[in-house]
Amino acid sequence: MQTKYIFVTGGVMSGLGKGVTTSSIAKLLQLSNQKVSCVKIDPYLNYDAGTMNPIAHGEVFVTEDGGECDMDIGNYERFLNQDIPKSHNITTAQVYSSVIEAERKGKYLGVCVQIIPHITDEIKKRIRKIAEDGKLDFLIVECGGTVGDIESLPFLEALRQMKVEEGPQGVIFVHVTLAPSLDVVGEQKTKPTQHSVQELRRIGIQPDFLAVRCTLPLEEKTKTKIGMFTNVSIKDVLSCHDVKSIFEVPQILYDQGIMDSIFVKFGKVGMVNASANWDKWNKIAQSMVNHEDQQVKIAMVGKYVKLADSYVSVNHALKHAGAQMEKSIDIDWIDSESITDYTILSKYDGILVPGGFGTRGSEGIIQTANYAREKNIPYLGICFGFQLAAIAFGRNVLNLEDVNSAEIKTDAKNPVVDLLPEQKNVSDMGGSLRLGANEITIKENTNAQKIYNTTTISKRHRHRYEINKKYIPEFEKNGLIFSAESDRGKRMEILEIPSHKFYLGVQFHPEFNSRPGFPEESFVAFIKAASEK
Ligand code: GLN
Repeated sequence: MQTKYIFVTGGVMSGLGKGVTTSSIAKLLQLSNQKVSCVKIDPYLNYDAGTMNPIAHGEVFVTEDGGECDMDIGNYERFLNQDIPKSHNITTAQVYSSVIEAERKGKYLGVCVQIIPHITDEIKKRIRKIAEDGKLDFLIVECGGTVGDIESLPFLEALRQMKVEEGPQGVIFVHVTLAPSLDVVGEQKTKPTQHSVQELRRIGIQPDFLAVRCTLPLEEKTKTKIGMFTNVSIKDVLSCHDVKSIFEVPQILYDQGIMDSIFVKFGKVGMVNASANWDKWNKIAQSMVNHEDQQVKIAMVGKYVKLADSYVSVNHALKHAGAQMEKSIDIDWIDSESITDYTILSKYDGILVPGGFGTRGSEGIIQTANYAREKNIPYLGICFGFQLAAIAFGRNVLNLEDVNSAEIKTDAKNPVVDLLPEQKNVSDMGGSLRLGANEITIKENTNAQKIYNTTTISKRHRHRYEINKKYIPEFEKNGLIFSAESDRGKRMEILEIPSHKFYLGVQFHPEFNSRPGFPEESFVAFIKAASEK
């Protein structure tokens, strides 16, 4: 069996939803009982997303195997309800590092090492290995950036070569573009799409499909015009108009006949049964858009609130939990650096503090965690939000002096949160945190056990600091207990205040395990508590 490849490229501008298009096509194939996975190519020079500021690039998504990946990997996981390994996020730095390392080892036997063929061969090798290792029917590869960018050229060249090598029924290209209208009733303009396809064809790629983003459904005359100028058959010019929820996009593409067309192009006609799994998926997709009348108001207090994408998995996880509870979640992002009047938090049903790094904005989070505790407002603290909740408790309940995290104040008298011992000699910032899934043991008869309904869970991590065990007896004597641990008691993983309505801190990142229809348990418990009047 040979894997079939679908390559998704982008035109006109960034942010058109290549990730959603990629995930939706993968979902449609999965619903047709095909074994699929997705790959994200990021043409930037960072080795991975780990060192990038979430305000500029969106959240760093952590995989089971500890990859610090582009947030599109999270979209793939959520759409497919399937884990994606870190090897599925390919960057320029990874490709060049391998080639340069091989060159230094003398593996090229004296030849001049060049972008074509050495870099392009390495790119193709990585893509094919993923297909072979996963024994996939289909692999969807999304190439980041916009056609015309210098840095994506070697990747597009590798994809072009794969079409030649795999044969006409081995590869298809989907190009995502835009048809803007200057006002709501205005004509849908085709020129940006025409130019973008011309640019793609100039480097040797003829798209098979165009996924055209637009506000209102693409009109027939616009489709005809685009098809005519781009050599794409009119039925394969697909309208990707605005919808309420991204989970409706597979249906929209399906209704335009994308599946029949894909299977014709790959010579797989008659082998598909797309109907078997639709019911379940439609139920999930529907549940994500309803319940407007049942609002739960959540304050998300954090450092990277200027860009909603900084905490995209947390936003999704809240919505998954809301869908299960038949509530709609209204999230207000509050900048922990500028908050001064904490009484504004009293109007929320729940307060969530997500992950974060560094000193800036940390005092606002500590005060927030304290306010939620004092006012009995449901609180969910994730990673940084867990650590700073412990600090708030150390300062305000234990009345210790100069309580802090060693990350925020290196010489604090009471470092309630301290560096992980194995981090003491780490100097590289990239890929050096405690990363990926680890097993966690939950104590019996705790809120955590009730939430997870088990005593062993596995969750993803991304941190360098942890609770200093020295202070635990003092905490527990005063009503805050550590209800889960990992590495045979070495690290604290969950904190809770049993006398509080709902006060939970988790050292791990539950948001990365939450999927539509399968919400993560701590989010469900949080939303449940927040919905109780
Ligand atoms: N900055 C903290 C640490 O490194 C928390 C990290 C996070 O929130 N992901 O431990």
